[in-house]
Amino acid sequence: MILIVDDSPENIISLKKVLEKNDFEVDTASSGEEALKKILKKSYVLIILDVQMPGMDGFEVAEAISGYSKAKETAVIFLSAASANVNLITKGYSSGGLDYISKPVDMNILLLKVKTFYRIYEQSRKLHEMQVALQEEIEFRKEAERKKDEFISIASHELKTPMTSIKGYIQLLERSLEKNDIETTRSRLTKVQNQVEKLNLLVADLLDISKIESGKLKFNRRYFSFDEVLDHIVEVMQQSHPQLKMHKSGFVSAEIFGDEMRIEQVIINFITNAIKYAPGSDQIEIMTELRDDCVYFSVRDFGIGMSEEHQQKIFDKFYRIEETSERFQGLGIGLYICQEIIDRHGGKIGVNSQPGEGSEFYFTLPLHPVHAQSEIL
Ligand code: ADP
Repeated sequence: MILIVDDSPENIISLKKVLEKNDFEVDTASSGEEALKKILKKSYVLIILDVQMPGMDGFEVAEAISGYSKAKETAVIFLSAASANVNLITKGYSSGGLDYISKPVDMNILLLKVKTFYRIYEQSRKLHEMQVALQEEIEFRKEAERKKDEFISIASHELKTPMTSIKGYIQLLERSLEKNDIETTRSRLTKVQNQVEKLNLLVADLLDISKIESGKLKFNRRYFSFDEVLDHIVEVMQQSHPQLKMHKSGFVSAEIFGDEMRIEQVIINFITNAIKYAPGSDQIEIMTELRDDCVYFSVRDFGIGMSEEHQQKIFDKFYRIEETSERFQGLGIGLYICQEIIDRHGGKIGVNSQPGEGSEFYFTLPLHPVHAQSEIL
């Protein structure tokens, strides 16, 4: 919007008419004092300021508004009689004015200047927007860099823990071998194997992350029995956690199309998290059923649970709930990988949870995915 400041009503009327005819929005003030009041309340792109006015003159107005934050981007065109001397003109520029037109006003020149100012204003507004966007982007990089550093330090720590155990057990193995104590040797070997398996899983997750990043996570899809895969996992998990009460209910009774190993990975991830994040509880409920041509699978635990705020974020890369991250080891990438796997199978993944009451992690998988036939051919 343009503000015309002039003590002569005729001048205001004729300027307003021309500007409005050229689609500019116009406001008016008949004195310097009135103009100041208006500028305090509103932002103007341009002020056309008569220099010679009774009371505050145009230069004084320009000087006063140069300190207003609302007028920081505002341009000023001074209007003055042709007889104005050079000193006046210089004064005009030094008090923050940007241009000068002598009276009687040549409307064509005024319009040209107004249009130029509007263009400059638009350009500087866009520049400012770009600057803000760039700044945000820089911050976001910085943030990504910080997360990466944090991840590298957690990952190194996580890898070091089983490594240190392995080293320790190997030293102990040497001793039990020297003593020819076969029983202890066997038990220590099992412990080494468990730690190696832990390392293996960690490295596999790290590799998956880098495959997802580079778009190289490939799926080997075919029809397989979901029920059989699940039965097998439950049997193996039950063997390694004999104290755990795993209640399994429902079945699919149909073959589904997907990457068996990858779906297995998601199920195992849900179950191991259900065990890990429920210390003191020995129950897990596993449920499968058919819902609208989809497999619905869920794992419910009675552990620490989580608030709504965290439920939105736990599938993000590297996200771990801070309040509990010291208590439980982890890299914060398992659920991110699970989400990628389920997404790429055309399914949905999610969680229902209440702090202190446990969590239910679930996924759905379409029985007849759109791409199934084309991929099989
Ligand atoms: P990790 O367990 O290695 O940290 P995940 O990606 O599997 O990584 O899980 C991300 C975060 O989600 C965990 O750090 C934990 O805070 C939270 N979480 C996952 N599963 C559960 C669960 N069953 N109960 C409570 N919190 C969970």
